[in-house]
Amino acid sequence: MWKALKFCVIAGLILAVCWWVAGLQGGVTADAGTYRVTTSIPVALLLLGLAVGLLIIFFRVLGGLRRAPGQVSRWRSARRTQAGELALQRGLVAVAAGDAAGARAAAMKARALLGDTGFVQWLNAEAARLSGDDEHTRQAFERLTHNKEMKFLGHQGLLRESLKAGHTEEAARQAQAAEAAYPGGAWTREQRLALALREQNYAAALRLTQAPQERAALAVAAAGKAETPKLALDFAKQAAKADPTSPVALVALARALHGVGKERAARKTLLHGWKAAPHRLLAAAWLSPASTPLEHAQTAALLAAQNPGHMESELLLGQTALTAQLTGEARRHAEAALKAGNKDGRAEAILAALDGKPLPAVTPAWRCTSCSAQIQDWSCTCANCGKLGTLVANVPGTALATTKG
Ligand SMILES: [Zn+2]
Repeated sequence: MWKALKFCVIAGLILAVCWWVAGLQGGVTADAGTYRVTTSIPVALLLLGLAVGLLIIFFRVLGGLRRAPGQVSRWRSARRTQAGELALQRGLVAVAAGDAAGARAAAMKARALLGDTGFVQWLNAEAARLSGDDEHTRQAFERLTHNKEMKFLGHQGLLRESLKAGHTEEAARQAQAAEAAYPGGAWTREQRLALALREQNYAAALRLTQAPQERAALAVAAAGKAETPKLALDFAKQAAKADPTSPVALVALARALHGVGKERAARKTLLHGWKAAPHRLLAAAWLSPASTPLEHAQTAALLAAQNPGHMESELLLGQTALTAQLTGEARRHAEAALKAGNKDGRAEAILAALDGKPLPAVTPAWRCTSCSAQIQDWSCTCANCGKLGTLVANVPGTALATTKG
């Protein structure tokens, strides 16, 4: 609406000016030597307008001609950049596809078109890596570490090469440099964690993760390797804090408390642990190895009382009664364990032993939540898939681990 109004106003003004010019009286005379030109004012104004228009066009053409070389150069440069970027894209795809020859050809073309930019250096390094040219790969990544923006990728490449060659110290140095180049990167953290695990430096690994299960597993492992009882207690406390129901963490805490002479607190930890989630490791820690079988049976009753009627409580009472040759008690508790849902063969083993037909000893294994492997002995990483903090106590009644009995 406003546009239409504006157009009408301007058109009206132009028409009014043209009307006024057309109505002007008089003439214009120009003398040039013996020539004289005489015309009316409207025609003279029209000719003047034409002359000004021609002059503007003339200067525009002249300016365009002067700028032409620069424009041609810029056009050619843009074309080179475009072709270089295309070569980089093709190189990137070749790297992803594992095509060493394609990546190398693209890297050479990109370098010819774009020069030795950071991206070209990276492509060159990756092409060398795919070709299996270790020396060239290392040199190329080394060069990349001098590039302000791409230095992380340089250290990343050198770290991978160091790991491939088994040079863990150099890998650790590159991991630190990568962290400095790009602080807080998840990839670098994972690499540093893997390196710390490889070196069994659990205390260092513990500083690199916030995941509760991972922290609990690492803190237990660190407590086991701690140089002083106090340090072991610090780690064990961290483990129990990260995973308060983990039998491994609670046993580590009880052991560490025992290590610093806090017997009462150690016993309390095991009692609370049994109340929350009974596990054979808690029972093993509870029963003093120096005691007689009868003392075992009596002490076991104290622990089992924390969780009466639980399948694990019944099994503990049955097993300790069996060892103490309290056959009636052993049978009663084994049958109670069966009633409580024990299906992994431990209750049957007690009954078979009572009948004089011992079965192979059965120990509930650990299960990896990542790969589902059954693992006999706990460790902070899964022996099958290598994942950290993935072992959980086997759910009763699921797969079994049979030991030679
Ligand atoms: Zn696993």
